[in-house]
Amino acid sequence: MPSLPSLKCSGCGACGQICPKSAISMMPNNEGFLYPEIDSSLCVECRLCEKICPVLNVRSSTDFSERKAYAAICNDEKIRLESSSGGMFTVLAEKVIAEGGVVFGAEFDSDFSVMHGWTDSVCGLERFRGSKYLQSRTENTFLDCRKFLDDGRKVLYTGTPCQIAGLKAFLKKDYENLFTVDVICHGVPSPSLWQKYIKFREKKSASRIVKTAFRRKNDGWKLYSLSFTFANGSEYRQILTKDKYMQLFLKDNGLRESCYECSFRGNSHKSDITIADFWGVESLEKEFFDDKGTSLVIVQNEKGKRLVDSIKNSCCIKETDFSQAVKFNPAYFESKKRPKKRNVFFKNFERTEINELYIKFGKDSFFMKTKRFAARCLWHIRNIKNKKEAR
Ligand SMILES: Cc1cc2nc3c(=O)[nH]c(=O)nc-3n(C[C@H](O)[C@H](O)[C@H](O)COP(=O)(O)OP(=O)(O)OC[C@H]3O[C@@H](n4cnc5c(N)ncnc54)[C@H](O)[C@@H]3O)c2cc1C
Repeated sequence: MPSLPSLKCSGCGACGQICPKSAISMMPNNEGFLYPEIDSSLCVECRLCEKICPVLNVRSSTDFSERKAYAAICNDEKIRLESSSGGMFTVLAEKVIAEGGVVFGAEFDSDFSVMHGWTDSVCGLERFRGSKYLQSRTENTFLDCRKFLDDGRKVLYTGTPCQIAGLKAFLKKDYENLFTVDVICHGVPSPSLWQKYIKFREKKSASRIVKTAFRRKNDGWKLYSLSFTFANGSEYRQILTKDKYMQLFLKDNGLRESCYECSFRGNSHKSDITIADFWGVESLEKEFFDDKGTSLVIVQNEKGKRLVDSIKNSCCIKETDFSQAVKFNPAYFESKKRPKKRNVFFKNFERTEINELYIKFGKDSFFMKTKRFAARCLWHIRNIKNKKEAR
């Protein structure tokens, strides 16, 4: 039987999609993350799964002569406000669709779990817009993507760095008509943690969730909110520092095991373009900061550069210093440290209520609260100073 990675498996699903006998299913473990399970009665030991696994065959790219970074903002204000950062995903995707192409991205399923899908219409892009902070299932999208590529359609596949590495390994060859975009990735939380949170909110509101968004900008881009709309017309919205799910996500206990030693950061990104929040933009490119969202766009190679050069009419974009920009976004290079309490977090996970998880693992200590308060004060003082200088 082939031996696939266990804890290092990123759950990209390439092994299941390459298997000629459909012997591999992606099944949730007790933490809620998908891992491959091989049906030995179907396996013919061709070992294709092992040969293409991006984690077993990890390689660093070496040529970064084309790597460039940009501050960017989508011209369409409505799209920008609906997006997590500056809306550059939509700008890139619309360009590919205008040329008859197909775009793959992460969308909510009917139960608000997250999976990958595709569209070839501009209105279909709405489903993929906005970050969903949990791991997405790639389902059969690598197979769908290969079919479109073989038919000669242009394809833009977007996802986390491990999903892009999985797609590239699955395809086994370069396609001139394929463009890939990944995000700078903090790490992916457990889909079960998210489901637990959804149930908690539904119980509190005594109503079913009909809509959710992780990055509402009512209080600005930096202090974004998670929101739910319920069937009874009520709404929940809370800023990231006060929302229980966001705090559990950002405290790192609920991340996938492989995220603590991610194989696809820094020089191991396999995408043509990486997009992210341009944290620190107010220091580096002041004129790109209005707290409505600014994207950091990192072009990884010549193909990525060509795509970015072609969208300059749909956005406001300026080259910036790569090494300075990523200083504000360490997740580009570094994985989050595995918290000491992670084992305890998942030990009684199924039986523990959200409130209890939050109190034990998500709530800020007094020291952290004071530090955050001081940082906010400093930020306001700097803002007032900048405004005075601009007058
Ligand atoms: C799990 C996760 C962690 C992230 N961590 C960081 C970070 O540490 N630092 C940082 O600067 N940025 C991070 N990002 C990226 C950031 O949140 C924005 O997605 C990015 O800046 C693009 O924003 P946008 O305005 O261009 O487009 P948006 O419309 O906001 O982004 C949509 C894009 O995100 C993809 N996407 C959304 N959810 C998922 C998902 N669950 N899995 C795979 N792809 C998804 C869509 O397919 C689409 O390509 C993370 C994103 C995710 C999904």
